[in-house]
Amino acid sequence: MRRFVFTLALAGSFIATAVYGLPAPSSLSAREKQAVAPRATPAPRPQTPTAVIPESSRPSTAVVIDAGHGGFDRGGIPGQRVPEKKMTLDVAQRLKAVLTAYGYRVVMTRDSDVFVRLGTRVAIANSYRDRDAIFVCIHFNAARRGSANGIETYFYSSQSLPLASAIHYYVAGGAPTPNRGVRRRGFYVLRKTTIPAVLVECGFLTNATEANYAQSSDYQQKLAEEIGRGIRERSLVASTSAANRLAANNTTVPLQPFIDQTHYRDPDLARSKRGKRSSKSSSKSTSSKRKHSSDSDSEKRSSTRKKKSAPAQTEN
Ligand code: ZN
Repeated sequence: MRRFVFTLALAGSFIATAVYGLPAPSSLSAREKQAVAPRATPAPRPQTPTAVIPESSRPSTAVVIDAGHGGFDRGGIPGQRVPEKKMTLDVAQRLKAVLTAYGYRVVMTRDSDVFVRLGTRVAIANSYRDRDAIFVCIHFNAARRGSANGIETYFYSSQSLPLASAIHYYVAGGAPTPNRGVRRRGFYVLRKTTIPAVLVECGFLTNATEANYAQSSDYQQKLAEEIGRGIRERSLVASTSAANRLAANNTTVPLQPFIDQTHYRDPDLARSKRGKRSSKSSSKSTSSKRKHSSDSDSEKRSSTRKKKSAPAQTEN
């Protein structure tokens, strides 16, 4: 069943690519893309990753963990039973513990059930710019279609792709749910951060199976550990350069192919996207509308609000 679902997901992504011409990384040949295509099952992992952690991944790095939503912003879609804000905080706090145990300096944009503006979250992240810092946003997905499921990881700047690849490789590889792939998209918190920034959608809370997983402390811990592993091993992500690739493939984390959604959207999610005034908004805006626009899941709840849609522009 899992394999079937995965096959469907994979087929869907190929179809999407064919139909929309979604660009794959231009630096990846077809053979390479195949080599690093999303997997149904995790590859064998090094048992002693600490032995190969390069200097740049060592705990001098500050990790800014951003638990999505909070306070009056529950996250998800209207009527959603499981509050996203609670799940994101649970995972974020576990990730904090995991990374602290590794020796990382950890900064939380929120550590309780409070609302934090997006501009504040970004400002916190950017204030650690000179500390080799990275920014990791934890979210869960939602869709009106209850069967929608799987793990997605988002990035925007090219400097963030290795981090996104490493986190996604472990989180999606270790999860008993479909791999929806790495996606490039201009969410506000990803666009405005000047340090490597990634947003992980840890599954759909509107999917009964994944909602059950998300509420289990074992699974939350698993997510935190896989994200933590990705953070630790982000410097091991295979280079796209031909010279390094062959040697790298056996010992490093594969660079993940990605779907570029800066101009196109997943058909599954695009039906209900929100039209947006494209170029004006800035970090100063703090309305809840603004807030909602920050999350990939927000698009799914917005279909009834606005009919028109701004072409190809993401303001989140
Ligand atoms: Zn969210």
